[in-house]
Amino acid sequence: MLDTHELSRRPGTMRPHGVTVQAPSPVGTPVIGIPEGGDLELDLRLEAVMEGVLVSGTVRGEATGECARCLDTVVIDVETPIQELFAYPERAEAQADAGDEDVEDEVSVLEGDLADIEPVLRDSVVTALPFQPLCRPDCPGLCSECGARLADDPGHHHDLVDPRWSALQSMLESTGVSDETKES
Ligand SMILES: [Zn+2]
Ligand SMILES: [Zn+2]
Repeated sequence: MLDTHELSRRPGTMRPHGVTVQAPSPVGTPVIGIPEGGDLELDLRLEAVMEGVLVSGTVRGEATGECARCLDTVVIDVETPIQELFAYPERAEAQADAGDEDVEDEVSVLEGDLADIEPVLRDSVVTALPFQPLCRPDCPGLCSECGARLADDPGHHHDLVDPRWSALQSMLESTGVSDETKES
């Protein structure tokens, strides 16, 4: 929650707001995110406008997750811009009364002097995170045969039997069988 009281509702009044908060719960997606208790560095500007308070700036944090290819731990710095207008409660009500029924769902509204920026932070961080985090852009992933990490073992391969060779092998085997029959 941000306290906007100091702005005194005078349009044009501006106040920088830099603060580091701890994530109250994980912020991100199931594959990657800022863990609970992780730092969220907020570098914000609060500005009083006619309709309410405009909150803008950046949020920074360190997200951890799993590489989509090799399942190694991935740590990335996230920095993303945020911007949200928090309407004064009576402004939002006036708009709702004017027949715009969706307005309360779509517009963030101040609770007294307080702006709940958590949903906005969550949305911005999620948008900035990769869908498929990778430990490095060219991560070779895991061996499809045995699951070994290919990054640890660049020459890793399996001696798969060549199909032509296996045909020859079965020919030899059948010859062996006929030899045995002759001898008996
Ligand atoms: Zn990887
Ligand atoms: Zn393998």
